[in-house]
Amino acid sequence: MIDLHAHSNQSDGKDSPAELVRKAKAAGVTTLAITDHDTTAGWEEAINAARSERISLVPGIEVSTRAKIGLRSISVHILAYLPNPDHPALAQELAKTRTSRIGRAKEMVSRLAADYPISWSDIQEQLKPGATVGRPALADALVAKGIVPNRSAAFESILHKSSPYYVSDYSVETELAIKLIREAGGVSVMAHPLIDFPAGKSELDLPTKHFEQMIAAGLNGFEVDHRSVPEFAKQWLRELALKHNLIVTGSSDYHGDGAKENQLGENSTDPAQLQRILHQAWGFEAFL
Ligand code: AMP
Ligand code: FE
Ligand code: FE
Ligand code: ZN
Repeated sequence: MIDLHAHSNQSDGKDSPAELVRKAKAAGVTTLAITDHDTTAGWEEAINAARSERISLVPGIEVSTRAKIGLRSISVHILAYLPNPDHPALAQELAKTRTSRIGRAKEMVSRLAADYPISWSDIQEQLKPGATVGRPALADALVAKGIVPNRSAAFESILHKSSPYYVSDYSVETELAIKLIREAGGVSVMAHPLIDFPAGKSELDLPTKHFEQMIAAGLNGFEVDHRSVPEFAKQWLRELALKHNLIVTGSSDYHGDGAKENQLGENSTDPAQLQRILHQAWGFEAFL
């Protein structure tokens, strides 16, 4: 079973990279991709664990990006498989995003601190040093303080995008990210497409132009089988992939027990699609 999207505590997952690999093996996963947000810091530990657990590992990154649709700026996550982690322009963009996420989280904490007993050190206690900071670390600190019962409750209330405590972060523009991933020898797959698509809208409203622009920029595939992709959009995505000869994947987006409902191996990728990723990538070697 092939699961190509999972997080460790190098970003907002709960498990160390080695624990993540062990849990994947126990769940019946035979090939795992570690895809922390905006960092490659977990790769080495994950590869070493994969070697001792005898499972295959595809190093990846979930790159935070932003795209403009009309007047709106939307967040788009692009999975990068097997890019060269030392490619200067890609590494520089990822570092810029990680740094901006620290300032953004600090700003959110200072807004929260006006109304709740929470400080930056509470966030640091929830994070591995050097890990990519996101709202989940804030959620964990709010849980530890007894302010909310769990991560999801935090996301549905005071950490929600519409909350006055919410601050957005810098991210690289989507088409530039796709180009940098290719330059670095990686394969780009749009993570969980259309998860923010407004409920009640129909296929007629799907942002075809936005998708065609990403494809023109070199996007290599879509993560179609993911629990948050709207059912009505899956067939549309499969047809678009077929039309443009793109890769289609399926993955769990696991973040650890209790972090989110997503469980390792709950969605998986066809072996032929994994082969396409391996063939198209030249930036780094998968551990097979
Ligand atoms: P950020 O990138 O800092 O804005 O935070 C977004 C991250 O929070 C995503 O990568 C998700 O993994 C995580 N997340 C989003 N919604 C939830 C939720 N309801 N429960 C737990 N984690 C979530
Ligand atoms: Fe996440
Ligand atoms: Fe994501
Ligand atoms: Zn993810």
